[in-house]
Amino acid sequence: MAPTLGNPKSTIEILNKYHFVFQKKYGQNFLIDGRVLEKIIRAADITKEDFVLEIGPGIGTMTQYLAEAAREVAAVEIDKNLIPILEDTLGGYENVTIIHEDVLRLDIAGLVRQKNEGRPVKVVANLPYYITTPIIMGLFEGNVPMESMTVMVQKEVAMRMQAEPGTKEYGALSLAVQYFAKPYLAANVPPNCFMPRPKVGSAVIRLTRHTEPPVKVNDEKKMFAIIRAAFNQRRKTLVNALSNAKELGLTKEQVQDALRKTGLRIDIRGEALGLNEFAALSDCLYR
Ligand code: SAM
Repeated sequence: MAPTLGNPKSTIEILNKYHFVFQKKYGQNFLIDGRVLEKIIRAADITKEDFVLEIGPGIGTMTQYLAEAAREVAAVEIDKNLIPILEDTLGGYENVTIIHEDVLRLDIAGLVRQKNEGRPVKVVANLPYYITTPIIMGLFEGNVPMESMTVMVQKEVAMRMQAEPGTKEYGALSLAVQYFAKPYLAANVPPNCFMPRPKVGSAVIRLTRHTEPPVKVNDEKKMFAIIRAAFNQRRKTLVNALSNAKELGLTKEQVQDALRKTGLRIDIRGEALGLNEFAALSDCLYR
């Protein structure tokens, strides 16, 4: 069965049939461009072996493409008004399960264990932009067996995820994402590919999970606390940013001493440090 959605005409027909009203609070911007959908499926590298988790299926547009390409798809949707629509648009696909739930409350690791016998899942989503970071970090930090995540995000967020030290986009999100995965920008997507049109540009980014983190650090949580503090006051030197952060409990002298020991300049700013340097600094500060 070929996908029937993924164009303006059939999208409007379905929306009218169910008198659907868009909910701004759920970040609802539905894809209406078949070429973009095909690009996402290609970037996600879906095969008939794969179990795919889709977050926020909307009216089921991308779900139809995923159902064609994958062995099995589970699609998690929060909006109860979309459930009867999904039952209609996905009725012809036997390999799709619709789950009516808030993805941030769902036991995804449990679902993957049950559906895929613990083998890694591929996550594919046109994400609701208001919760992009909690969804992505929740998947990375929540022990979900996952091979990759191919997601539509705000373009600016995609740029931050793949940014290198010393650039203006570089920050805590770049370091967090790159600690867990290798980012690859698969496509830029303009607002006219969605209904309704978002106010911002979008991009598809594929995050391929590392089998081993690229750096070894004694205490991952402490390293990320340092990273957050460094970028909370990104214009300050690292010495000031870290010693001002009450939650770290560090004095200026302790930070200066650790910088010397790790071979870094005393007046350096957080934006100049890569993962290796943050890991070394964290190990030195919290031996
Ligand atoms: N996948 C569809 C498409 O591409 O046309 C819709 C994408 S739309 C950007 C985001 C979808 O996520 C909406 O259907 C919205 O209702 C759903 N959503 C928002 N918050 C959610 C949450 N916390 N859990 C699950 N789904 C959510």
